[in-house]
Amino acid sequence: MLLGTAGGPPWWPDTTRAGIGSAVTVEDDVYVVDFGDGSGKRFKEAALVPRDLQTPGGLWGEETIRAMFLTHLHSDHVGDYFNYFMLGWYNGLTSRKTKDKIQVFGPGRRVDDAGNMVMEPIFQPPGQPAPDIPVINPENPVPGTVDMTNYLYQAFALDLNDRMRDNFKPDLRSLFDVHDIAIPKGIGYHPNDNPSPAGMAPIPIYQDDKVKVGATLVNHFPIVPTFGFRFDTADGAVTFSGDTAPNDNLVALATGSDILVHEVIDPAWVDVLFPPPVSPAEEALKNHLVTAHTLPEDVGRVAQRAGVKTLVLSHLVPGNAPADHWLAAGKTFSGKLVVGNDLMQLPVGATPRPR
Ligand SMILES: [Zn+2]
Ligand SMILES: [Zn+2]
Repeated sequence: MLLGTAGGPPWWPDTTRAGIGSAVTVEDDVYVVDFGDGSGKRFKEAALVPRDLQTPGGLWGEETIRAMFLTHLHSDHVGDYFNYFMLGWYNGLTSRKTKDKIQVFGPGRRVDDAGNMVMEPIFQPPGQPAPDIPVINPENPVPGTVDMTNYLYQAFALDLNDRMRDNFKPDLRSLFDVHDIAIPKGIGYHPNDNPSPAGMAPIPIYQDDKVKVGATLVNHFPIVPTFGFRFDTADGAVTFSGDTAPNDNLVALATGSDILVHEVIDPAWVDVLFPPPVSPAEEALKNHLVTAHTLPEDVGRVAQRAGVKTLVLSHLVPGNAPADHWLAAGKTFSGKLVVGNDLMQLPVGATPRPR
């Protein structure tokens, strides 16, 4: 199920696409990948839980969420993340049938093998002086998912403490288990020098009776770490690219999947951003933008190499491009191409669930 299908931080005009978010459902269990702006409301609209299983106040059906996954910590992937926590209180989180905590997985700090924090380099277009850029939160300028979540608990302490005292809500921290994805040591990984080590084995990060989830490091430099995820179920396999340039680790992870949900960027939009004449500095900035993402024809090549049955384009940048701008992906891919839309349901194996 695609929740939101737009990529990037802008509130794109003239589109109803919400920010990026997807859900894998197996029977009544739900696993959510990424939390872009507006994707939380899409989760409610998706009615992922049959009505007769919903409880009063449980319209999000959060009783069935078992795990949440963040590909990376760019703002367009985390805008609604904490809404699943603090709005979840009023939308079914406390009436889940299971008492198991919701498991949350995302990137850890931007650190090297020795655990030293590594800032991203300042991008310097040719011919321009190095800018002097201040550092926010200098004691930890590169927080990971656990840090971010703890900072969010702190930032919203007034509301959280109030509702625990005034409405007797349970401590949110007792309902979620948040994990940083551990990157194996010795694979050559370094945030600046080697963000996506060639040939790395997928990292097993989560397993229950319905799904097995593996992660790989993709290339979305300078935001590092960034992961792609693969879900294996009894019905088949679905892989999510995260944000990435064409990437061999992602091809390896996706190989043999039924569905690959992949990000894509429209070159026509990039050209509009930099109308001619393009200065060398603008050319460098343009290349910088494109090298962290995947163009339509390249996404087709990735899917072809991975041998997936269906390629689903999501995280569309810009979110308001005409649908035909994405069809070039079909020139290089011989399987089924789907240009994603919000609330699109893509069955794997079994019949689609009733809405
Ligand atoms: Zn993104
Ligand atoms: Zn990103």
